[in-house]
Amino acid sequence: MSIYKCPNCGEKSFNPITKAMAGQLNSRGRVCMKCGRRIVNGKGATIFNAIFSILMFAGIVATYLGAPKTMGTSYEWIKDFELLITVGLLLAKFIVPRLVNAFFFKMTPAIRIDPVS
Ligand SMILES: [Zn+2]
Repeated sequence: MSIYKCPNCGEKSFNPITKAMAGQLNSRGRVCMKCGRRIVNGKGATIFNAIFSILMFAGIVATYLGAPKTMGTSYEWIKDFELLITVGLLLAKFIVPRLVNAFFFKMTPAIRIDPVS
């Protein structure tokens, strides 16, 4: 079964881009073009995203706490390096889960009840 099929109506109404933008279980999801139901990425994607976010956050904290102690005295260079790592980790935290959502894990109908819509 294709991961781009709508779990509600079974039509192949998603592609990597729309699937990436559908978010996880805790998001509003994306409306299926065929049946109008809101669809999100399922448990697998949600768990992966949670673990990945924690790892990236741990990496940022570790960089912040660890770099000045282990790198010696060239303070200015460390600051640049530290910033680079932090930016890299933040970018990874933002991009990787979307790539994973685009190409892996099954989708599921959104369960979040949204009082606005
Ligand atoms: Zn559908």
